[in-house]
Amino acid sequence: MTQLNSQFKKLSPSDSILVINCGSSSVKFSLIKPDNGETLLSGLAERLLTDEAVIKIEHKDEKKSYQLTSPFNHQTALAVLVEQLQSLNLVDNIGAVGHRVVHGGEQYSKPTLITPEVEQEIKQLSALAPLHNPANLIGIKACQAAFQHLLQVAVFDTAYHQTMPEKAYIYGIAYSLYQEHAIRRYGFHGTSHYFVAKQAAKQLNKPIEQCNLISAHLGNGCSITVIKNGKSVDTSMGMTPGEGLMMGTRCGDLDSGIIFHLVNSLGYSIEDVDKLVNKESGLLGISGLSNDCRVLQAAMIDDNNEQAKLALTVFCYRIAKSIASYSASLTELDGLILTGGIGENSSWVRSEVIKQLSLLNFVLDEEKNEATRFGASGNIATSSSRPCLVITTNEEWVIAEQTSQLLTNNAN
Ligand code: AMP
Repeated sequence: MTQLNSQFKKLSPSDSILVINCGSSSVKFSLIKPDNGETLLSGLAERLLTDEAVIKIEHKDEKKSYQLTSPFNHQTALAVLVEQLQSLNLVDNIGAVGHRVVHGGEQYSKPTLITPEVEQEIKQLSALAPLHNPANLIGIKACQAAFQHLLQVAVFDTAYHQTMPEKAYIYGIAYSLYQEHAIRRYGFHGTSHYFVAKQAAKQLNKPIEQCNLISAHLGNGCSITVIKNGKSVDTSMGMTPGEGLMMGTRCGDLDSGIIFHLVNSLGYSIEDVDKLVNKESGLLGISGLSNDCRVLQAAMIDDNNEQAKLALTVFCYRIAKSIASYSASLTELDGLILTGGIGENSSWVRSEVIKQLSLLNFVLDEEKNEATRFGASGNIATSSSRPCLVITTNEEWVIAEQTSQLLTNNAN
């Protein structure tokens, strides 16, 4: 392959992959062994582009934090990371960099070596993901400068959903908007749904190609994916991560007439509506208190807070309703997967969701539900129920694994 020329390091089997997830004001990073997911170092640079910019690095249970000096940008954060990697003798073990890239449009259904042409396409796809793709590109540029000898790979959040059939991705609007402007459903959280589906297949002792599953990723962002014979056939997020379930601060599905009413009758600007539906809605909007599930559970249980209870009740009802509706995509169902910060940890949310799914033969084992939290995984349903699998997601490991596989296959 022409890009794999001698200016770049050749990946060796013992190498680790540096995984980068770059946001507009943050960079999450982890150094991961692609074969077993072992994390050698991880951390987060946040509040970038402000004079409070800080980088936190964790290595072997030791956590360090450094204030960044001017310029408080992604490049400075990566320069501190490189210094730390050097002082810990970890630089020579890095084989490549894997980037989480949010939107890959219809062009990218697989991990892709980053070339100037690919960068250009990621830039063009910013039209579909204006908050995410430009930030991902900043991370790519900064890593190219910091690690000039390393190949960089893009792993797209939308890629796993490229197997969806037309009936699942075409919106009920003029078809020309799809043909001319690529307006269709894409879906997100792809690496997470893919990872937990693979883990579920192991737990069910079935090849992934024979597994039919519904996966619920419930974190600050929430989405449901239907997996038929190991492949995504439908998912709840759409052209943007705003569609589908109600989330921490996003409203999810909303009658489009409400937007016209807000603008035409209540004096909202388009920017106001954007802020409302993305930053001020969901759990935060209904509770008026917080977008954090833990805070709302405590307010509901300890303080009898009615708004917190309503927010959580709506949240759970919509998850259950959505799972039931997505079962229409399948003729067989091996089980339900729960993941993400809420799916992995909130026994209350899980109980509330699963008790509304008895028609699909899901019955919760309360004891197992309480016991399966904080990193524990397993089936929380009774023995006569369809399995409900709690699985800790690991998107970083998928990015490391796919980066390594791509470069190994290309080298052969
Ligand atoms: P994520 O975006 O996947 O990191 O998930 C963040 C969400 O998980 C937040 O709403 C947290 O409140 C929630 N979460 C994390 N731990 C718990 C817990 N022990 N109980 C309930 N929710 C939790």
